[in-house]
Amino acid sequence: MTFGSERPRPEPGRAARTLVRGGIVVSGDPAVGDLRRGDVLIEDGRIAAVAPELPVAGAEVVDAAGKIVLPGFVDSHRHTWQTAFRGLGADWTFGQYGAVMQGALRPHYRPEDVYLGNLLGRIEALGSGVTTMLDWFNCALTPEHADAAVQGLREAPGRSLFGYCAEGPGDSAGSGDSAGSGIAAELARMREQLPGDGLVLALRGPLRSTMDETVADVAVARELGLRVSVHVHGGTGWPTGDRVIERMREHGLLDARTTIVHGNGISDDQLAMLAEAGCSVSVSPDVELKMGFGWPETGRLLAAGIRPSLSIDDCPSASGDMFSTLRTGFAVQRGLDRSLTARDFFGFATVEGARACGLEDRVGSLTVGKDADLVLLDAEDPSVFPVGAIVTAGHPGLVDSVFIAGRAVKRNGELLGVDLPALRARVLESRDRIAAAAGVAIDGSGAPAG
Ligand SMILES: [Zn+2]
Repeated sequence: MTFGSERPRPEPGRAARTLVRGGIVVSGDPAVGDLRRGDVLIEDGRIAAVAPELPVAGAEVVDAAGKIVLPGFVDSHRHTWQTAFRGLGADWTFGQYGAVMQGALRPHYRPEDVYLGNLLGRIEALGSGVTTMLDWFNCALTPEHADAAVQGLREAPGRSLFGYCAEGPGDSAGSGDSAGSGIAAELARMREQLPGDGLVLALRGPLRSTMDETVADVAVARELGLRVSVHVHGGTGWPTGDRVIERMREHGLLDARTTIVHGNGISDDQLAMLAEAGCSVSVSPDVELKMGFGWPETGRLLAAGIRPSLSIDDCPSASGDMFSTLRTGFAVQRGLDRSLTARDFFGFATVEGARACGLEDRVGSLTVGKDADLVLLDAEDPSVFPVGAIVTAGHPGLVDSVFIAGRAVKRNGELLGVDLPALRARVLESRDRIAAAAGVAIDGSGAPAG
């Protein structure tokens, strides 16, 4: 529907004012707090007021009685193109993920497959309350693949950022984000399609390229005014050696427009470097635990002064919704040291995600002046502590309504204007073709040694 802070076109014939009335409001804004009963007034797509009771005058009313009203979730990193293979990677190590997803399946993706994966993945995320999502796209076998990925996001209702892991002409299809050069022309081409803050450089980085190439790639991003998102984590060898963060800092590559994905195993002194540079960090609890990156670093990041955002990461190894990510991440940190609260985690999934996407002025909390990206959750049960209920007991089946800049994209549990059965059928066809071409058994029986 829309990219970055772009405003979606207003719906023809729709009232300019909407009053979301009588809900349990979890604003995510410390100045507003939680309201046992509250109204949210939307004017021209923006939040105009949040208060216990607001006048209805001239507004279309959305009845939120029995619902929790919250800011939409922000997923700061997801490889959406892999959506069709959900569950396949449940038992994968990171090595097996590389061998099967990147090595075996990826070369058989056509632009049409990328389009379908991104479209369904974005729609599913939206249906579960992810209003903003950064698609970390690392299947750019050709420019047409990148165009198809953007098209999938564009057709899905929701606010997206396209994290483009461009591959240079020397890159070999199927080997992952391998080293190469010459991404500048391709990134500039994408910049013409996505001129605002909806385009991000998904950096191959020190894991997939040399430090010289990393320096050159970041220079291109800065030239084009792009944020940078880069994977740095344990559980894998680094072609550029250890102390990757320190080396990036030496080259002047760390700043407030940089997001480190994962961050597991980064030493305390390097975490301090990230904090000093103002970098954000995206934690993907499910994938990090299951693939052996180490414990999610939520607690250590906080100790270093960094409030992380949350992300789904690889669709074959994790669910597509933020609730399960919240629950895993929260339970792990509580298990480790009980240093964090449910409200902390709620913030990671909302306002910190917005910050990691450079959109903290526009989304992430129910704050006057921000875009009205909000979610209504069924709360018919006794939700005595709404934030606790969201984090510990939320699930996609509770998502009643979703609004993007005040525009309804899901109401009464139904996505609007989306033929999900037809789309799913196309995705399954695409998935079966890819799996057959790659010789990968989709029942999970064929995982290689890892
Ligand atoms: Zn990732």
